[in-house]
Amino acid sequence: MENAKQVVIVGAGISGLACAYEIITRAEKDQLPVEVSIVEKSSYIGGKILTTHADPYTVEGGPDCFILEKPWALMLVREMDMEDQLVNTSSQASGTYIYSGRRLHRLPDGLIMMIPTKIIPFATSALISWPGKIRMGMDILIPRRRETGDESLASFVTRRLGKEALDKIAEPLVGGIHAGNPDNMSLLSTFPRFLEMEQQSGSLIRGMFARKKAMAEAMKKRPKTGAPPRTFFISLKEGMQQLTNALADRIGRERIATGVEVKTIQKTGSGFQLLTAGGQKLAADQIVMASEAFASAAMLDNFAPGLAASLRQIPYVSSSIVSLVFRRENIPHPLDTYGFIVPRIEGRKIMATTWSSIKWPHRAPDGKVLMRSFVGGAQQPELAELDDEKILALVRKELQDIIGITAEPEQVWINRWPRGMPQYVVGHQERLADIDRQVKEFPGLHLTGAGYRGIGVPDCINNARLTGQKVLADLS
Ligand SMILES: Cc1cc2nc3c(=O)[nH]c(=O)nc-3n(C[C@H](O)[C@H](O)[C@H](O)COP(=O)(O)OP(=O)(O)OC[C@H]3O[C@@H](n4cnc5c(N)ncnc54)[C@H](O)[C@@H]3O)c2cc1C
Repeated sequence: MENAKQVVIVGAGISGLACAYEIITRAEKDQLPVEVSIVEKSSYIGGKILTTHADPYTVEGGPDCFILEKPWALMLVREMDMEDQLVNTSSQASGTYIYSGRRLHRLPDGLIMMIPTKIIPFATSALISWPGKIRMGMDILIPRRRETGDESLASFVTRRLGKEALDKIAEPLVGGIHAGNPDNMSLLSTFPRFLEMEQQSGSLIRGMFARKKAMAEAMKKRPKTGAPPRTFFISLKEGMQQLTNALADRIGRERIATGVEVKTIQKTGSGFQLLTAGGQKLAADQIVMASEAFASAAMLDNFAPGLAASLRQIPYVSSSIVSLVFRRENIPHPLDTYGFIVPRIEGRKIMATTWSSIKWPHRAPDGKVLMRSFVGGAQQPELAELDDEKILALVRKELQDIIGITAEPEQVWINRWPRGMPQYVVGHQERLADIDRQVKEFPGLHLTGAGYRGIGVPDCINNARLTGQKVLADLS
């Protein structure tokens, strides 16, 4: 296209891809002269989204699902004409176990995130002591916090529901989503809904009841489409990478250069020049940094050292996922939930294990069980870096102690994510405001990705598409 404006996106994770898709589809519709290209350091497209097909197993190396409550991933799946590829979590099991006091306890029915909404299952569960249960119930009486502003997850949960709820439920269940440390996790940036509930309803329990009621009303009013009902978490038949592959096809694979690392970015007259590790020079009118914040910092050091320094203040933690296949008869457990999570106070060496082929249909053949264990995170980052032999031995020992598996796994996959999980620590919103202010000093430069306004796949998609719209607005 002659005289087309050049947009270069750094990073072909879901954020870079969704941003490119947004720009390309809008530019095509409005016949705007815009060329988009994506430059990706690794050899494959998808970033943290990585599915391995090792027939007959489908193994997720990163995310294994997205939540329906945030609609942007579902919307994109629909735009890709892939709705028939969606899979619900299997109905052969439900919920999760929590490891506490050397045994697994079922998370009581009706406990949503960390908030009890059903009295009997909660009262009869042995997970929380009676003083702990009473303390959680006191949430109804405790006045809302007067000060506004950010607070750590630990401070918030201890204040409203007590220390036992923090240690046994909130830390592994809520903090675990970010592989984070509740002592410094920003509630405002990770679960602002909890703060809203407290402010609006004066109590989490009352707030959750109000929310359940509103959702039930909304469900009643929803037009009947004939579409099958969906579960809270959903995935795709061929795994999460089916989405990034479909996006890459829609964008045009010729526009995505893999195995090309951007080393540095320079400012030129009205645009930018990217220098790659291989010595290539790429010209751009607009640049979207869809790479991790620390990676973007390294590329921007040259012309925006202040911005680079601010980006480096967003910490990232490492984790590794060990996927294993066992024969069903070698697992002395009913496997009647989707897996178990392990609170840090238990002092164990895995954060959680998902029974993947129980959670998702057709991920392993009959008679075999595919499971994956999470190692590392903010609490024990050094464990994620152990070599393959040690990390496998560690996971096997934990699975032996927790669910009694002594057999050798039939197959093993290890996926490592060094500095793979951004941490929104207290003050994250102020850091973002500071970053936004500095980005404005460089017209044509944009940042998107998991490091900023939501780590989950749906949030990444939404923010990336908004960034794409901003690129087009800037160009026009
Ligand atoms: C183990 C794990 C499990 C998760 N589970 C879930 C889940 O179940 N559900 C959910 O919703 N979310 C989950 N998440 C979060 C979610 O997967 C990620 O936040 C999201 O995929 C990040 O997408 P992104 O495009 O922003 O970043 P990334 O996927 O990190 O993409 C950034 C890309 O930039 C590239 N890059 C970096 N530097 C350069 C350079 N110099 N030159 C060129 N390219 C460069 C990188 O190689 C990378 O491909 C999980 C994350 C992890 C790590």
